[in-house]
Amino acid sequence: MIDANYRMPYAGKGVFTISLDFELHWGVFDHTPVNKFSERAKATRLAIPEILLRFEKHKIHATWATVGLLMADNSAIALKNSPSINRSYQSGTGNPYDLLRSSPELDEASAPEWFAPSLVEKVASVHGQEIGSHTYAHYCMLESGTDTKSFEADLKAARSIAKTRGLNLKSLVFPRNQYNDESAAIAWKLGFEAVRGNPEGWIYDPMADKDIHVGVKLLRLLDDYLPVFGHNTHELPLSVIKDQPLNIPASKFLRPSPRALKAFSQFSVRRIKESMTFAAQHGRMYHLWWHPHNFGHDTKFQLEKLDQILTHYNFLNQTYDMQSLNMGDLATESLKTQHERVLAEAV
Ligand SMILES: [Zn+2]
Repeated sequence: MIDANYRMPYAGKGVFTISLDFELHWGVFDHTPVNKFSERAKATRLAIPEILLRFEKHKIHATWATVGLLMADNSAIALKNSPSINRSYQSGTGNPYDLLRSSPELDEASAPEWFAPSLVEKVASVHGQEIGSHTYAHYCMLESGTDTKSFEADLKAARSIAKTRGLNLKSLVFPRNQYNDESAAIAWKLGFEAVRGNPEGWIYDPMADKDIHVGVKLLRLLDDYLPVFGHNTHELPLSVIKDQPLNIPASKFLRPSPRALKAFSQFSVRRIKESMTFAAQHGRMYHLWWHPHNFGHDTKFQLEKLDQILTHYNFLNQTYDMQSLNMGDLATESLKTQHERVLAEAV
């Protein structure tokens, strides 16, 4: 029996979680040549300090799920640290290691699209910011040519390059939100305590790129503006399952406003704020995510949207004591909660 007086550390309080998939060109290398990403990379690198300033101002704890290759100082180190077993890449879709081998002399100054150790260091130095993993080379688990052995080798490479920077990775975000039970089990085995799951609703199920047909894309877009799939907040405490990383499901992607829908962007911000309020009032979790490079276009406009969301969080914090926790914080809290619950049951 659980002690009737037992209270979880954040019992009754809502939680606001933010995770960012930090990848620069490695998130799109399979369909966009690096020279077509240069302007975006430049603008993203300028936007990141702006995002950090806002996180500091509003006391936001966020997880920066970072592609391991970004942590390398140069191509040679990125290759030296590459996985012992590699997945196969279809010809024509690009292979990150071929790209690196073709440009062995590059570093952060000459290839700011590929390497960002100075930014990783900057993020890690800001209070409340967690450096998590987005795999070593943006390994998309459900694409063809993948297998569990090479996935495991990729995650090992991610952990080892992080270690060279003094980082012990706790949280993992699966590239393109593609995962299955096997990949989660491998992550746990290698020491990851938390993973980001997908929002509820069939349109958000993990799927390979080819399976995301236009109907799914349209429904996802519609759900940004209208509550087609509800608030997508999550019950707390999150359930801890033995020998599995804590699943911290996403609620919403902070999508950059498509040009044609820019006039309606207030509706999408309002939808996010309403769901955050619901989470705060009902002691649930709301988990917002995006890529820093989503702020590498129309940066001022994106930052204004973020300002509104974070100001709303501060209102919810003051009114309902909503807490900002990153994925690592949540994993620590949830595991502690479970541990304390077991102790309470034993009394
Ligand atoms: Zn990604």
